Parts: sequence; C-alpha cells; structure tokens
Amino acid sequence: MAKPAARIITLIYPSRCPVCDRPVRPSTEKICLPCLKSLKAARFPYCEKCGKKVSDGVRICHDCSNLEHSFARCRSAFEYGTVRNALYRFKYFGRREYAQVFAEMTARILGDYIAGAKPDAIAFVPLSAGKENKRGYNQARDYACELSKVLGIPLLTDSLRRVRNTIPLKLLSPSARRKNLKNAFKSGQNVVKSLRILLIDDIYTTGATMDECSRVLLDAGAETVYCIALASGEGV
Ligand SMILES: [Zn+2]
Ligand SMILES: [Zn+2]
Repeated sequence: MAKPAARIITLIYPSRCPVCDRPVRPSTEKICLPCLKSLKAARFPYCEKCGKKVSDGVRICHDCSNLEHSFARCRSAFEYGTVRNALYRFKYFGRREYAQVFAEMTARILGDYIAGAKPDAIAFVPLSAGKENKRGYNQARDYACELSKVLGIPLLTDSLRRVRNTIPLKLLSPSARRKNLKNAFKSGQNVVKSLRILLIDDIYTTGATMDECSRVLLDAGAETVYCIALASGEGV
C-alpha cells in the first residue's frame, strides 16, 4: 500500500500509462493491464555483443564484427517498435513516471544478464548541463535510478560528466558520431576504481555513446562495463 502522501499525489496526478498515455487503470498499477501485453521484451536472436536484433543463425551483428567495443556486452530490454512512442514521450514530454515501470520490467526481462554481469554499481549516460536544464531531467538517469532501487545496486550519480557539447547524433554518420563524442565525457578516478559498472541509456543505436562512456569509465579504473538500453533501434 502506498504512503498517504503518495496516494494523494496519485489522486491529483495519476500516473500515465507508457503505452496508451492515459491515466493508468486500475490506478494501483503502473501500466494498464490490457496495455501490458503490447510491450514486448527483446527476444532472441540478438547480437551476443551489443544486443541488437539479428537474423536467425547470426551470432554477432555486422557492426560488431567490424568494430571493437569498449563495453563487455550490451542488452536491450524491449523490442524497439513496441516502445518507440513511449520512449519519445519519456524523453521529450516529461513522462518521468514511466521510469519505474520500465525499470521493473527490465529487471525481470534482463534478470539473468544482470546476475551474470555481477555489477557493483550503476551509472548512466549524462546529458550536457545545458540540455538537462532545458529539459528539466535526464531520462537515462531516471531509468537508472529506478533500476538501482529495484535491483538494490547503488547508483553513481556523478561517475560521468559531459564536458563538451556535441552535435545531435541522429544528424551524423556512424564514424562522425564517434569522432563527435571524443573527449565529450569525463569520469572521476576515485568514484569507479575497480568497480564492475552497469551503464544505462535509453536507446542504443550505433553504440558510439555507450562505447565512449565505457572507455572513459575504464580509463578511470573501472574493472568492466556492461550496458543496458531500454531498446536498440534506428532513428531516435
Ligand atoms: Zn494503457
Ligand atoms: Zn552487435
């Protein structure tokens, strides 16, 4: 049962459902029960390295066969198409309440993966200070924060900082994305030293952002970096 203050907040500002974007029915849930079916977990076959969808019989996707990633592995929680609209609202329309249900479902969908990664701490991909001030929040941080609560793994709130503004990645080719991200992040050495990190972002596209953040964490002494994205997909 929610605390009285939380119940009042729920009455005044009912949580919206990530699928239909209407107040959740019944209001005790975080997603409408009929809508739950339409959020699909990312299923096998996926690339063993980055978690992207691949064709039957393929172990490693084309990108990963041509490129050495800094992270150990990445997995996505959901099929991109089933969360595309929810992700958009989560990111650009202030639907921060989605973070909780996304995190709870992610913990179930990727439970074995997370257990195998044995993370000591959770980190997230930061936004630039200017962007975060304008938006008022960072959706990757919200998602990571809820995952930290569900999994009981500490959240590192300041392990990565974006020290340079970058051009929006969707405007760039894959190789230009990587160049654009060079030296965009910094990490504090004493924060991540010898830790196994679970790095969180909302979307995995080419992996350039996850790679650069992982490299920075490893340079700062992290033992290894495993990644989780809500979904991997194109064009977001
Ligand atoms: Zn719904
Ligand atoms: Zn791959």
